[in-house]
Amino acid sequence: MQNVTLNNGVVMPQLGFGVWQVPDDEAQTAVTTALQAGYRSIDTARIYDNEAGVGRAIAAAGLPREELFVTTKLWNSDQGHDATLRAFDAGLDRLGLDHVDLYLMHWPMPGVGKYVETWQAMEKIYADGRARAIGVSNFTVETLTRLIGETGVVPAVNQIELHPYLAQNGLRAFHDEHGIATEDWSPLGQGKGLLDDPALKPIAGKHGRTAAQVVLRWHLQLGNIVIPKSVTPSRIEENIDVFGFELDAADMRAIGELDNGTRFGPDPETFAAGA
Ligand code: NAD
Repeated sequence: MQNVTLNNGVVMPQLGFGVWQVPDDEAQTAVTTALQAGYRSIDTARIYDNEAGVGRAIAAAGLPREELFVTTKLWNSDQGHDATLRAFDAGLDRLGLDHVDLYLMHWPMPGVGKYVETWQAMEKIYADGRARAIGVSNFTVETLTRLIGETGVVPAVNQIELHPYLAQNGLRAFHDEHGIATEDWSPLGQGKGLLDDPALKPIAGKHGRTAAQVVLRWHLQLGNIVIPKSVTPSRIEENIDVFGFELDAADMRAIGELDNGTRFGPDPETFAAGA
């Protein structure tokens, strides 16, 4: 497993396991399979309604806590200073942990206007040592600029939709300039057609790998953190078996040329669910 070092010195696995849309009663099995396959980073959220199942898998695995990297996220309806502090405590309870490794604000919801005070509450959680790092998700250049300008605290991570159809080159450049790690959600395009793109087939054939492995390799070689999801044991294993080959410059360029602005998820400028 390769790691990235966040802007506060905390080390995070570059590849983790996402559990969006995994029901709580299946999350324990899926996360157990992932831990057995070698994943050490798990990405959940309040809104996924499976923090308890993730927590049960972590407890059952019996791995040293410091070998695991657990991320959860603050849901939109819990934004605001005091609500954030309460929501964080409830999330820790559901996970059965005394700290998380990364706590993310799930969406900025600029129309609601509470993300700065929410971030200030997250700074307190960080100062208390209950989150080893704090970051955001679905922030844009505009919302990041305001957040950093008003608080002076740069998020460790911005977790954003990013895959070959939405390469986010502008936002990635902003992250690099400010020391924010880019974490890619829906890295496989949610399995909705991207993996059948004809441009991926010859690259996969050349390396004797699957299209999913080629796409995950592209994320890793960009230097991003990536959190593919699957509940199928063979795919869970396939998705972590991506450290034994390398894409060349022509492969990287060909995949980079697939960027056509397609979003599989909501647009952060307008999304305000749960407000
Ligand atoms: P993904 O891009 O990881 O795709 C998952 C789907 O792709 C699977 O359900 C399956 O249908 C298919 N798939 C997986 N492995 C495959 C393989 N090896 N071969 C063929 N098909 C395969 O989609 P995702 O779940 O949307 O994103 C990953 C994680 O990102 C989520 O589980 C969640 O943790 C996170 N996420 C975060 C946000 C956010 O707003 N912060 C939003 C969406 C997702």
